[in-house]
Amino acid sequence: MEIIVGKTAGFCYGVKRAVEGAEKEVESNKKNIYCLGEIVHNKDVVKGLENKGIEFIDDIDSYKNDINTTKIKETVKESKEEKRLIIRAHGIPKETYKKAKENNFQIIDYTCPNVLKIHQIAEEKKDDHYIILFGNINHPENIGTISYCGKNYSIIEEKEDIEKALKELEKSSLKKLLIISQTTYSIEKFKEYSKLIQEQLENKNIEIEIRNTICKATEIRQKETEDISKKVECMIIIGGKNSSNTKKLYEIAKKYCKRAILIENKDQIDLKEIENVKKIGIMAGASTPDEKIKEVINIIEKI
Ligand code: SF4
Repeated sequence: MEIIVGKTAGFCYGVKRAVEGAEKEVESNKKNIYCLGEIVHNKDVVKGLENKGIEFIDDIDSYKNDINTTKIKETVKESKEEKRLIIRAHGIPKETYKKAKENNFQIIDYTCPNVLKIHQIAEEKKDDHYIILFGNINHPENIGTISYCGKNYSIIEEKEDIEKALKELEKSSLKKLLIISQTTYSIEKFKEYSKLIQEQLENKNIEIEIRNTICKATEIRQKETEDISKKVECMIIIGGKNSSNTKKLYEIAKKYCKRAILIENKDQIDLKEIENVKKIGIMAGASTPDEKIKEVINIIEKI
């Protein structure tokens, strides 16, 4: 069996920076280190950091619940030591920085520079532009970005959301439109929907600015997934099932390869599904550690 492994499979720059940073943090100071949300959409990585001493919390208020109910009570209440709060690569809303400071957290910010750039663009344009953000409304990155968009914005995830967004733009009476995107949004959809919006606003006297804020690492990984998927009989995508960029890779693999499989780790491989395959492709999402990819390759190589 021939195995083609994507060169871009695994941790991207932003995730690597956040995970390594969190590891360093917990090595130098084991107490009172919190992380807001899962540092990456990968249960094994989160578990590993938890075992080293990082406490994962869903929001600042859940931290307060924790100190009333768990072992952290003694550690935090009786200690004068600082509490440190790690911000993951997805970033957080503006208000959360304020809330963290009010709760005396020292912030260790690993928001990816690509995400910070989107916040900056939105903040600069929010007063005189209507903002359209491509992406999923519930994704943590977008929840952060929305806080920089002011009042006049819409989120478009699928084609059917375009009509509503354009009606809202009309209601706002703004004559300038900014289009931006979640860093891990599909490049194909970004191009298609931006073009559709441009066509629908033709002759409406709206100035449109399109900023492709999809991260280059995402773009290259999606393209490589497409290329490999076209060459192989079966494509395996490794990554967290709640990871947005992994799901996109799986969608691409399904589109271009007749057999696409999504797994989180080696334990989920069904060897029967691939036993007669002669050429297999492997790609992994931005939150999949190298060891997990190697474990999958090792099992397949043994067939
Ligand atoms: S996918 Fe891109 S934007 Fe997102 S964390 Fe990785 S490098 Fe940063």
